[in-house]
Amino acid sequence: MISEDIRRQYTVTIGIECHVQLKTKTKLFSGADNDAREAAPNTLVNHIDFGLPGALPVLNEKAVELASRAAFALGTEPQRFSKFDRKHYFYPDLPLGYQITQFYDPIIKDGEVTFTLDGEPKTVRIHEAHIEADAGKSTHPAGTDYSLVDLNRAGTPLLEVVSEADIHSPAEAKGYARELYLRMRYADVSDANLYYGNMRFDVNVSVSKTSELGKRTETKNLNSFRSVERAAEYEVERQIGLLEQGERIVQETRGWDDAGQKTFSQRSKEDSYEYRYMPDPDLPPVVLSDEYVADVAAAMPELPDAYRTKFSAMGLDAKTVEDVIADPSAAKLVGMVYDDAGPDTAKRVAFWLLRPQEDDETAAHEVEPTEVDTASQVKNLIALSHMVAENKLSSTAAKEVLDSMLKTGESPEAIAETKNLLQVSDEGAIAEIVAAVLAENPKAAGDVQNGEMKAIGFLVGQVMKQSQGKANPALATKLIKKQLGI
Ligand code: MN
Repeated sequence: MISEDIRRQYTVTIGIECHVQLKTKTKLFSGADNDAREAAPNTLVNHIDFGLPGALPVLNEKAVELASRAAFALGTEPQRFSKFDRKHYFYPDLPLGYQITQFYDPIIKDGEVTFTLDGEPKTVRIHEAHIEADAGKSTHPAGTDYSLVDLNRAGTPLLEVVSEADIHSPAEAKGYARELYLRMRYADVSDANLYYGNMRFDVNVSVSKTSELGKRTETKNLNSFRSVERAAEYEVERQIGLLEQGERIVQETRGWDDAGQKTFSQRSKEDSYEYRYMPDPDLPPVVLSDEYVADVAAAMPELPDAYRTKFSAMGLDAKTVEDVIADPSAAKLVGMVYDDAGPDTAKRVAFWLLRPQEDDETAAHEVEPTEVDTASQVKNLIALSHMVAENKLSSTAAKEVLDSMLKTGESPEAIAETKNLLQVSDEGAIAEIVAAVLAENPKAAGDVQNGEMKAIGFLVGQVMKQSQGKANPALATKLIKKQLGI
């Protein structure tokens, strides 16, 4: 461990590159299916992905649309002119011998991502983002002298988002990764499923005691926010440790060992000239009209910041706001309830839909998708909230109604009725029960009359019990006081 004193002498500089898998139906340049998740190796491949001689790529228009949406999610607009280049390297899972990417004229330049860390806003500028085709996957079976190549992922459309080196701590690196993830999800650019590697982070870290930047290392293919933070932390400690011993940092690509929670050296870093970038003559430039860009802008869904504003206005604290936002399907429902029924109703719904968030969030905690349409869900959530506000349902009963309501789309009234959960607010019926309870419990009744208000809780409990939990407790309290003449 490096002491705090020594660590404070160094400036940490971090830049992050993130490959975001675009949610297209087919690949970037071929008609092969883009969903390689559970497919048998080499079944989602055609002549273009194999790189057969004479096969010509055709750009997938949907990928351009999704990248254009990403531009708005990053606080900018897509470039009206962008084009594709060839990045050459030789590896068995790259049949063409080059990756098709955008080197000279990317579709996104500039932009920024702002998020809150420890209550303070932090802005990271975006350098650029480019569209590119993924390579295939190589595996090296242990104990054999051969490698296996699966080209299902070859040609999968990616958007590589490159940040400026504006990040200065591992915590900021994690905050940026999380915010980028949320924006890509809310903009509906990517399924952003971290488990399936839909977003992979490369973290560039350097440390320096002077105003000059130190030599950096790049730790590649991190697929969780926690590993982004831990890998950055590990590199900061490792690099400062080396420098303090008078050693030098080697510019290199490193991997992340999740089990050992450490980075390890993979290869020395290529300089960009080694890739022999050149414009791809098989693909025309991408030219976007102002009308096209305006249409994309008009179709943009609400982004996390819009929800933050709404949810803060509902009186939710910052932590709770982030917990709701971490689940886009829940946030969308709460946002719609807010628009239709106002802050109080929306706040109640927010707490119902809230799932405990772990440090690293995946799709696991989300409101389960159902066949029920969103408009019905919103209508039912508002009705349920009103039932609680009007004391027709206890909050415990409301939770029971909620689960089956979200699954089936049945109205909360119908479910509460079937499950026999409706609270009795009929004064006459409860007054009878109250009279009986007071007669059976003269001591407690007397205590209450003598000003020992603790005892009233016991009496209300008895009323609840005799009514099988259906009496409205506020009404029961009122009637007990009335009958005891206090
Ligand atoms: Mn890349």
